[in-house]
Amino acid sequence: MTSARTTRAFKLATLDRRHVWHPFTQMRDWLRSESTVIVAGEGAYLVDARGKQYLDANSSIWTNLHGHRQSRINRAIIRQLHRIAHSSALGLANEPAAVLAERLIRLAPPSLKKVFYSDDGATAVEVALKMAFQYWRQNGSPLSQHHRWVPGKTQRLSFLTLEEAYHGDTVGAMSVGGISTFHRAYKSLLFRTEKVMAPYCYRCPFNRAKPERADACVYRKCQWECVSLVERKLAGSTRKRGKSSQQRFAAAVIEPLIQGAAGMIIHPHGYLKRFAAQCRQHDIPLILDEVMTGFGRTGTMFACEQENVRPDFLCLAKGLTGGYLPMAATLTSQRIFDGFLGDYAGKKTFFHGHSYTANQLGCSAALANLETFEKEGTLRKITARAADLRAMLQEFWQLSHVGDVRQTGLIAGIELVRDWKTRKPYRWDERVGVRVCEEAKKEGVLMRPIGNVLVIMPPYCITPAQLGRICDVLKRSIRKVCGEKNFS
Ligand code: PMP
Repeated sequence: MTSARTTRAFKLATLDRRHVWHPFTQMRDWLRSESTVIVAGEGAYLVDARGKQYLDANSSIWTNLHGHRQSRINRAIIRQLHRIAHSSALGLANEPAAVLAERLIRLAPPSLKKVFYSDDGATAVEVALKMAFQYWRQNGSPLSQHHRWVPGKTQRLSFLTLEEAYHGDTVGAMSVGGISTFHRAYKSLLFRTEKVMAPYCYRCPFNRAKPERADACVYRKCQWECVSLVERKLAGSTRKRGKSSQQRFAAAVIEPLIQGAAGMIIHPHGYLKRFAAQCRQHDIPLILDEVMTGFGRTGTMFACEQENVRPDFLCLAKGLTGGYLPMAATLTSQRIFDGFLGDYAGKKTFFHGHSYTANQLGCSAALANLETFEKEGTLRKITARAADLRAMLQEFWQLSHVGDVRQTGLIAGIELVRDWKTRKPYRWDERVGVRVCEEAKKEGVLMRPIGNVLVIMPPYCITPAQLGRICDVLKRSIRKVCGEKNFS
């Protein structure tokens, strides 16, 4: 390492510590160590200012798809830069946004016909929430269609959501979230929702099976009580005002197949279909948050395809641009769109937008991302790597502090416990997940835990050898931190 490089790395880290406030970070801890400053990336690797290479095992917080400096996306952005970087979508259309909208509609479930662009996962969800809410306000619900719409009033004031849900950090997205560590401080600021339990088989109170050395979704013993709770919630009416679910819920919001920030909670196969059927039966629009699962993470382009579910809203972000630029899209149906049509004076307009809505650079990156899927057979590649990962994950069952290993597509969650036989968790303040990831980082593997859950979510360009290295480093790190002994 050259001394000029060391000096530069030190300077950058100092500037960072002096001025930058990092997201989801206890800054007192951060200020105690030297910041890792990323200066470059290539494929599945990130490089810091000191020249050290790391495998990006969490795809830069679940955004990167095909690897860093992917040539097709690089070229597309540069080509677009030579024309224009940005013009407003308020009153103007632009070329890549129009072409991308058509491509997204072609790829998405057939229920979706329109694309509303925004900037991040939280805004994609926020847009869906506001659209659903306003739709009922100006169109009434089927039950109340004989009543006249009273301006300023809507019956559908609430949203049906899952416990442990995470949909982003804006106030609306937090309101439909359910992670108390993140949301507790803002409770009095948030609008009310009605929640049903997350189908978290490993820790489900209705699962009567004793812990096994296998995925709890598979060996569980239950009677789909999680679905019965949804049924009951939607069939019943509130005691206080006697409102039916059709009169209460503007929409239901769910992360399909897997709740990411909750700790990679994978739902049992069939849950999504049952949940969606209940919403359909009661005419409650279904918002699917595919901010994390979209674009191949679970093995199909969109997670909802796996249970043939056709939502009323589909929220996309993170991987939309291949992990290059902040950009999001909320797809919706013709029915919802038509509910906003009217004369100018009627003010049925969707009064929502952002300065960078439909940004040309983002749209060009997204088009190149989709082209990569086609030209490089990305979904086939994901299937092959997911099978490699499944085989490699088997070895984690030999570690006595591993309680659950769950996987869908190229996403894996490994839940650490004090004792696998009782599922007893480590306490939050033991920072077990954080310490394991600190060990892995020393060996050049970058990950971010969610409490006691370790997450593997590599970019799709990962090779079997690199995937093997991530798993080896992780096993070693768990042994070091948890004082593991093998058992059989
Ligand atoms: N929804 C889901 C399912 C997510 O995982 C996330 C981010 N982790 C978000 C929404 C929020 O996305 P963003 O951070 O881009 O606002």
